[in-house]
Amino acid sequence: MTASEPLMNSLLDHLVEITGHRDHDLLDISVMTALLNMIGIKHARVMELFQSRGDLLIRPRVWIADGKVQTVDEEASASELAGETIVTYPGLVACIAQRKNRLEEVRANGQHALWIPIWQNDKVSTCLEIVNDTPFTPQILQVMEGILSVYRNYQSLLDYSERDSLTGLLNRKTFDEKFARMVNAKPADSAPHGNEERRHHTDVKSQWLAVIDIDHFKRVNDVFGHLYGDEVLILVANVLRASFRAQDRVFRFGGEEFVILLRSTTLADAQMVFERFRENIEHYAFPQVGKITVSIGFASIGHETPVTILGHADQALYYAKDHGRNQVCYYDALLAQGLLHADKKVESVEFFFDEPATG
Ligand code: GH3
Ligand code: MG
Ligand code: MG
Repeated sequence: MTASEPLMNSLLDHLVEITGHRDHDLLDISVMTALLNMIGIKHARVMELFQSRGDLLIRPRVWIADGKVQTVDEEASASELAGETIVTYPGLVACIAQRKNRLEEVRANGQHALWIPIWQNDKVSTCLEIVNDTPFTPQILQVMEGILSVYRNYQSLLDYSERDSLTGLLNRKTFDEKFARMVNAKPADSAPHGNEERRHHTDVKSQWLAVIDIDHFKRVNDVFGHLYGDEVLILVANVLRASFRAQDRVFRFGGEEFVILLRSTTLADAQMVFERFRENIEHYAFPQVGKITVSIGFASIGHETPVTILGHADQALYYAKDHGRNQVCYYDALLAQGLLHADKKVESVEFFFDEPATG
């Protein structure tokens, strides 16, 4: 038996652990666990880089603190999710600007820090920050490189399976998983059931689900061809990314349908944000194709099942479609005005699973 055998076995165990996951959060957790257990790293973070309204922001996803791996949960506050500007971390900015795989810095408190951006096709959306009291030895760096190369490859496989290849938005499968988790994360006894919970006062923060469908999209394909249709989808995805906050989630649900999950927002703000997106599209000049509009239906995420909530948003969307398109409709408002009826539940499930007939 050689001295390196236990380390090798431990590395193999961690590799099995790392590659056993099909979820970014679990992958992050297992890579942090490997760094903690194998190299004894005491401070490290997996950071997520993202654009929001033109700014490049960064926020931690998973980190090691107090000898434990910790993570942001689904119920995290808006400020936890909002992120800070990347300028706060000049070492990382330099590392990315120089297109390096690794940058070591000695901090004012004497600690040694490593920035490790995870490069994917010339872009960085994830990076690791690893902090040590003493300089990183060549042995530590070697083991770390081994762990990180598996992490890198696995990260790109996951991205591939979570995202839609045309628009780069999160795909339907990811929506189903995230939405189920978000609904299940709600404590069952925190709000009254039935119709009372529908009475959303404008200052109560809640979560919202919107379904967006491009109006008369068939015509775009028919008149300009499928390639122009695809181009419109890519541009709409870009407007979507620019129109929502970092803590919201945008998905391509299928064809020319998109879904948004808005977190901790008042009804008034949700309405305003969806309306602003609708206007952004209405005023966007699509090359060749010209003007496009979208219809939007949204509903509050209460204690119903995911299928029911999606059914509500869908019913509101079809109401918008039937009443002139290019508008935002809110399920509960339609109910309150007697324009929709709550007992359409079964139909809405059918809406959800079957492609509705055109017309
Ligand atoms: P409505 O206002 O009622 O939504 O009318 P519509 O024509 O948009 O609705 P419908 O659902 O009948 O048509 C959607 C069309 O979207 C049908 C399909 O040809 C087109 N489509 C779906 N996915 C794609 C895609 O990936 N690329 C392109 N170019 N077209 C797509
Ligand atoms: Mg459609
Ligand atoms: Mg459509």
